[in-house]
Amino acid sequence: MDCIFCKIIKGDIPSKVAYEDEYCYAFHDINPQTPTHILVVPKEHIPSCDGISAENSIYVAKIFEAIPKIAAAEGLANGYRVITNCGDDACQTVKHLHFHLMGGRKLPENMG
Ligand code: AMP
Ligand code: ZN
Repeated sequence: MDCIFCKIIKGDIPSKVAYEDEYCYAFHDINPQTPTHILVVPKEHIPSCDGISAENSIYVAKIFEAIPKIAAAEGLANGYRVITNCGDDACQTVKHLHFHLMGGRKLPENMG
């Protein structure tokens, strides 16, 4: 499958890893929008939030177990934001579910 994040998980495309376990892979966004901007992705290809089901939701649960560990390791003691874009109206550009973990400065209240 021609999926850039599947290739990153496999190591076929280089990335700067932040965290990895059996279920998820986290790496630094190539175009960071905040001082810390990490993408956390399931190791199984799930296209977006719309693809989450009873069969694969363990990946999402494990991602959200990992996120506080990643945030702590990155020094985000004062808080952080987790965002996922789903579909065209949200401007999802990579069709492999991913959670943006963003922080390192005070973020704007307005979410869109
Ligand atoms: P989204 O717009 O929510 O689909 O987010 C996709 C994100 O993937 C963007 O923030 C991009 O900067 C990021 N991205 C795309 N290609 C790469 C890559 N090769 N390595 C790291 N981040 C990437
Ligand atoms: Zn994929």
